[in-house]
Order: sequence, then C-alpha cells, then structure tokens
Amino acid sequence: KCGGGVVALSESQSEAQHPKIEDREPRKKKVVVLGTGWGATSFLKGLDASLYDVQVVSPRNYFAFTPLLPSVTCGTVEARSIVEPVRNIIKKTNGEIKFWEAECIKIDAADKKVLCRCNIENLVGSGEFSLDYDFLVVAVGAQVNTFNTPGVKENCHFLKDVEDAQKIRLSVIDCLEKAVLPSQSEEEQRSNLHFVVVGGGPTGVEFAAELHDYIQEDLIKLYPSVKDKVKITLIQSGDHILNMFDERISSFAEQKFTRDGIEVQTGCRVLSVNDQEITMKVKSTGSVCSVPHGLIVWSTGICTVPVIRDFMQEIGQAKRHVLATNEWLRVEGCENVYAIGDCSSINQRKIKDDIIDIFKAADKNNSGTLTIEEFQEVMDDIIVRYPQVEYYLKKKNILDLRVLWNDPQGNEREEIDIEGFKLALSLADSQVKSLPATAQVAAQQGAYLANCFNRIDHIEEHPEGPRRFTGSGHHNFRPFRYKHFGQFAPLGGEQAAAELPGDWVSIGHSTQWLWYSVYASKQVSWRTRYLVVSDWTRRFIFGRDSSR
Ligand code: FAD
Ligand code: MG
Ligand code: MG
Ligand code: MG
Ligand code: MG
Repeated sequence: KCGGGVVALSESQSEAQHPKIEDREPRKKKVVVLGTGWGATSFLKGLDASLYDVQVVSPRNYFAFTPLLPSVTCGTVEARSIVEPVRNIIKKTNGEIKFWEAECIKIDAADKKVLCRCNIENLVGSGEFSLDYDFLVVAVGAQVNTFNTPGVKENCHFLKDVEDAQKIRLSVIDCLEKAVLPSQSEEEQRSNLHFVVVGGGPTGVEFAAELHDYIQEDLIKLYPSVKDKVKITLIQSGDHILNMFDERISSFAEQKFTRDGIEVQTGCRVLSVNDQEITMKVKSTGSVCSVPHGLIVWSTGICTVPVIRDFMQEIGQAKRHVLATNEWLRVEGCENVYAIGDCSSINQRKIKDDIIDIFKAADKNNSGTLTIEEFQEVMDDIIVRYPQVEYYLKKKNILDLRVLWNDPQGNEREEIDIEGFKLALSLADSQVKSLPATAQVAAQQGAYLANCFNRIDHIEEHPEGPRRFTGSGHHNFRPFRYKHFGQFAPLGGEQAAAELPGDWVSIGHSTQWLWYSVYASKQVSWRTRYLVVSDWTRRFIFGRDSSR
C-alpha cells in the first residue's frame, strides 16, 4: 500500500497533466532491481536510467564493501567507513531511480510482478506492496550455508554483512571482559578465550589473521593477566586452507599460521555446536571430540536464499542448486528476468551440443568437409560463444590451430569431415568452469547487463542475441565474459598473498601494500575512500579501539 500506491498516484497525476506527451511517447519500460550489493550497484551505476522507469528494492539502504568486512570485526576499519547509502549512488545517475527499503518475498514470473515487504520496526500501516516489471534484475546474493549442522544458527556468528561484523567485534571484547572477571576459574578463562573459525576459505582465513593481530597488537597489552590463555583454532574440512588458491599460497598461509600459534585443524568436520562446546569429527581417524569455545565464526560457503528457491520451483529449476542463467545472464526458462552475482550461475552451453550446426555454418560450399581456412574463419566466433575452447587451447598450450586440425596420428590433412571436427573440438567442453562467487564477478556482470540494457531497442527484439550459433559472426550482444584480475588473501602481520593473472603469485609485505592500494582505489566513493584510508592511518598510529 505504501510503495505501490505512491507509484500509481504519481503516474496518474502526470498523465492528467501531460496527456499529449504520454500519447506520443511510449511508456518507459519498468525495470525492477532486487538488491543493493555488488551486482545491483554496478548495474545501477552503468545503467542509463533515463531510458527506463527504474525501481530498486532491498532491505539494506546501503552498499557494503564486503572485502573489508573482516577488518570491521576488529575495528581496524569502522563499519561506517565501508558503506555507502544507496540514495547517494542513485542520485548521481542520469534519470530518476526510486528506492524502496523492503525485502522481496515473492517473484511472480507469470504475472511479471514482485511482492515486497518492509521490515522496518514500528511501521504504521501495512509494509507490503507489489511492483510490476517489464524487466527484473535479480541480485539478492546468497546466504551462509550451515549444511544443516545442528546448533550453528543459534550459536555461531556469520560474517556476511556489516551487522554481523559489528556483532563479532562486540563479542570478542565480551569474551575478554568475561575472562578477566574475578569469579572465573582458569578453565573457564580458557574456554572464554577460545576463538574458533570454521571454514578455511578466504573469509575465514582473513578473519583468523585479523583477530590474531588484534589480540597480539592491542588486546594483550590491555588484558595482560589472560594473555597466555587466548587461543585461535581454524577448522577446515578439506586437506588444506585456501585450497582455491595456488599451492604456494596455501602452504605459506599454513606455515605462517602455525608460527603465529593459530591452530589449523584440517580434515575435520563439525558435527554440532551448542553454547558451550563445538563437536567435530576427524576424518582420517573417525574420532569425535568436543572442545569448549568462547566464540565461533562460521564461514563455510554459501547457498541459495528462500525467495530464489521458491522462484526456481515456479520456473522449473527445482532440481538445481543455484539459479541458472544463459550466457547473456537471462534466467533459463523465464522471459524478462535477469540474474547476476552470487544468486545465480551461468549455464555455459556445450560445444558438442551445437557441433553439427557449427559445421554446417562453416561449410560454406556444402561439400561435407572443411578446409583449414574455413576452420580458422569460424574459430573466432566459436571462441566468443564457447569460452571453454579458449581455455582448452591455453591449457594444452596450442598456439597454432593446425594442431587441432591434424589427424590423431599427427599427420596434416587437407580437409576435415564432421567426425574429425567433433574430435578436434568436443574435448574442450571439459574446460567449462563455473565462475566463483566473488564481488569481481558480480560487479562485472552488473556492468555487462547495464550495457545491454542501455541499447534498449536491441533488448526488446533479441534479449540475448541468436540463441544458436549461426556462424555469421553478427551477434547482437556478445555473451558475458569474465575477466579475472587476480585475488588477494591478507594473512595478518602486514603480509598478504596475491594470485594475479598469468599464474603470478606474490607473497609478503609488499603484497600487503599492493592490497592497501587496490582496496583504496576500489572504494565506491571519495567519501568512503577517505574514511577507509584515515581508519588505516589511525590504526597505524593509535592501534585499534577496544571499547565495547
Ligand atoms: P551481495 O553483495 O550480497 O548483495 C545482495 C543484496 O541483496 C544486498 O543488498 C541484500 O541486502 C539484498 N537482498 C537480500 N535479500 C533480498 C531480498 N529478498 N529482496 C531484495 N533484496 C535482497 N569478493 C571478492 O571479489 N573479493 C573479496 O575480497 C571478497 N571478500 C569478501 C569478504 C567477505 C567477508 C564476504 C562475506 C564476501 C567477500 N567477497 C569478496 C564476496 C562478495 O562480497 C560477493 O561475491 C558479492 O557481494 C556478491 O554480490 P551480489 O550482488 O551477488 O550479492
Ligand atoms: Mg546485489
Ligand atoms: Mg555487497
Ligand atoms: Mg554467480
Ligand atoms: Mg567445405
């Protein structure tokens, strides 16, 4: 009633005032965007909002710079420094964008509308409203995956949002204040000061490193009586921490943590958690043990949020884990709905499914065979449409396409038939990879989609270009293509590791400085950039704040 009503009213007013303009100009298409995270913000920044009637719905009226969340848990950076009000972001765009602080509770793809509910406390009247759309951009992100482990929801902290980071910061201080109370036995002190991190991915590792620095650099000076009783344990179910990174980085991290006294327990699965203890199973021996804890941060990966689960059910994707889109980011089986970022995953088309069509298109004289020239000509288009082919060529170090062209014995041939063509290319499908759930991917997808939307007339006729390969080379839109700029893993003690494109690995103090400069430059506004840099400076000079 609040949101929907307001829109309807202002539209009918403008119709009454300018009926002629309304007659001449077709109604602007309605775009509804769900979310204000990495994907949505990047989309909104790139979109020419004068072309559409744009509305944004999110329960958070700000964008949060998630890579600095681990720093917020220890007060290295203040929470306010990493958030930017979404109203600041949208007022800078060309054209009006409306924002409603509410959560989407249902996507009704059949009627092209979304049902939303405002969760602000003490709202007078109903907070529920529905919005119609012509195009829907879903960028609601994901939620923490507990793998249904008993007690996790009730007794663990997550590290997904600004509020989570703030709660962790308070709890860390609480643990220390509890431990120094005169009524505490030594055993109770040790339990209160046992900090457990579950999950050895980038977030868990960075948090453990940050907490270690916080305790060593700031807290033990303030709580000297308990300084030998603090312990940090990092639990990882796989064999190594940071296993998505290069081996050199993961073993450097393990060694550094061991030197620092952070206990790394790999090959361990958490069975349950209660307010006192965490129970886990050592995979290799099968033994089960329970350890008392003061605080647990659970960061073992993500899963689909309920509203997207329901939507997947409605559009026939119930069997999938993640919402699938095509390579143009349009939701499979659903007209006019696009999805970007952590809530979705691209369903890359396999080249073997189209191989006959490709062959026919390439064989211009219908001879039933291809020459090397015909083959080379079609390769450029193939690489755009099926990026796995490029990964395959790179992986096998194939610089000259003739290598693919030769027969299995390695002899050169004049022409190739369909069987030979299949043999040459279908192996490439083994290189199809799904993109990681990172800010980098979400932001690039948002920017790509905005660019497509800005060419409004194309969108209406061919939302995603020719579905099948035509060989003509004239795609309306190139499919989305991810460009990886590398990834950092801050490891504490002013050291970081980085994996940069081209198998480049760099570790150490200089990498930490690279990290500082990259994250300062990636800030969404000059305001947050100033705040973050001054927080870092303050920390260098005065240390971190330890008040509750
Ligand atoms: P999000 O950014 O999560 O945004 C989702 C948005 O949707 C939010 O605004 C949310 O409020 C809103 N929303 C949720 N439910 C609804 C609903 N029902 N209706 C409407 N709106 C809704 N990536 C990197 O590349 N580098 C890093 O260093 C890095 N570090 C990270 C550190 C931490 C601690 C975390 C948690 C993540 C990190 N990531 C990093 C990952 C990165 O944050 C995510 O991949 C990225 O946020 C995904 O963008 P998104 O737009 O899909 O989702
Ligand atoms: Mg988003
Ligand atoms: Mg975000
Ligand atoms: Mg994704
Ligand atoms: Mg031919």
